[in-house]
Amino acid sequence: MLQGRGVAFSLCEAELVWPRILEDALSGGLQPVYGREERWQQQLDSPVLRPPARRDLRRYAVPMLGIYPARGCPYSCTFCSVIKIAGHAVRSQPIETTLASLRAAKAAGVQFVMFTSDNFNKYPDVRILAEAMIAERIELPFFAQCDAQIHRDPDLVRLLARAGCFQMFVGAESFNAATLRDAHKFHNDPGKYARIVALCRENGITTHFSNILGFPADTERGILEHLSTLRALGPDVASFYILTPIPGTEQYDDFRRNGWITETNLDRFDGTTVTWRHSNLANEDLQRLLSRCCREFYPVGEIASKLWRILRRRRDFRSFASLFSVSGFSAMSRMAGILGHHPMAGGIGRVRKDRAADYADLRLRVFGIDRAPLPSSLPLSRADEEINRRAKLVPA
Ligand code: SF4
Repeated sequence: MLQGRGVAFSLCEAELVWPRILEDALSGGLQPVYGREERWQQQLDSPVLRPPARRDLRRYAVPMLGIYPARGCPYSCTFCSVIKIAGHAVRSQPIETTLASLRAAKAAGVQFVMFTSDNFNKYPDVRILAEAMIAERIELPFFAQCDAQIHRDPDLVRLLARAGCFQMFVGAESFNAATLRDAHKFHNDPGKYARIVALCRENGITTHFSNILGFPADTERGILEHLSTLRALGPDVASFYILTPIPGTEQYDDFRRNGWITETNLDRFDGTTVTWRHSNLANEDLQRLLSRCCREFYPVGEIASKLWRILRRRRDFRSFASLFSVSGFSAMSRMAGILGHHPMAGGIGRVRKDRAADYADLRLRVFGIDRAPLPSSLPLSRADEEINRRAKLVPA
C-alpha cells in the first residue's frame, strides 16, 4: 500500500542492505523493498559504539548506554518478536568490539550499561567477555537479560556479578505451567524462580522479573494469585505487560486466524494496551489489573526493605546502580499504577508537543490512507528457515 509512495522497506538486518539503500537514495533509484532473500547477517562485525559526548550525557540523571554483543535466541515462545527479527541462531560480534565499546562508554561518562542481547546466558562467549571485563577492571555496572534456566549455572551468575552485573532481567511471564507450555515457553520452570532470586541475591545482583497478563486462559482471580505469588517470591523489581499479538509472531497469526484481534491501530500494539478480545476478561478489566499489579507489587514497606538489603551489602562499584534502579523503577511503577499509565511509557513527566491526530490530514494527502491495515506476517526464505532449523533448541 505504501510502496511507490516514497517509502522503502528493508526486511533484513541493516548490515546486509544499508550501503545499497544509501547509494540508491543518492542516485534517486530507491527500491520499494530490500532484503527479501536473507534476513540475517551471519558474521557480525559491528563497529565500536561511539557514545554521546559528555555534555550530552549530562542531560540524563544516570547516563546509560545499550550494547548488543549477540543477537538471536534458540527458543520459540509464540508471543516473541525477537526470534522473528533476530532469528534462532545466536550470532555475536568480536569480544574486542564489545570491550572497546565498554571502554569508550566509560571514558565518555556512561554510568551503566544495558546489554540488550535477549539471552545473555546463551551467548557462547559470555564467559570470555566477563573474564576479560574482570581482568581489565572495566568496572562498569551492567544490566543483562537471562533466560529462566540461569538457575542451572551458579558459576556463570558469580562470574557475571564479578564482571559488574547489578541487575538480571528474567522473562518469568507466568507461574502457570500449562500457560507457559501453551506459549511454547517450555524452558521456564516456575518451581525454579525462587532459586534464581536467591542465586542472584547471594551474588549481590538484583532481580527484575517480567510478567505477562492476559494469556488466553487467564482470569481475574488467576492474575491476582500471580501477583501475590510474585510478591511472596520477592524479586527486587517486576514489570507487567498485557499479552500483545505483535505482528509477525506466531501468536499474531494465530489470533488473526481466529478473528480475535480488535485493535486496528498498529501504534497500540505496545504491551500496555488491550488489542484483542479475551474470552475471560473485558478490556477495562485487563487494563485495571495491569495498573493494580504495577501499584501493588510495590508497597512502601517492601521497597524500603529491598533498599535496606542493598545498603547492608558490602559496597562495590555496582551499589549505586542497584540502589538507583530499584528505587527509581519502584517509584515509577507505583506512580504509573496510580495514574493509570505504564511505567515504561512516558517516564516521570510528559511533554505534549503534538499528537498523532495532528498528522492525519498530511498522511491522507501524501499516502492516501488514514491508517495502514494490519499486515500479514512475512514468510522466511528457504535458506533462513534452514538456519533457524539448525539453531533451534529442543524443548527442555
Ligand atoms: S526466551 Fe522466548 S521470549 Fe525470550 S527472547 Fe527467547 S523466544 Fe523470545
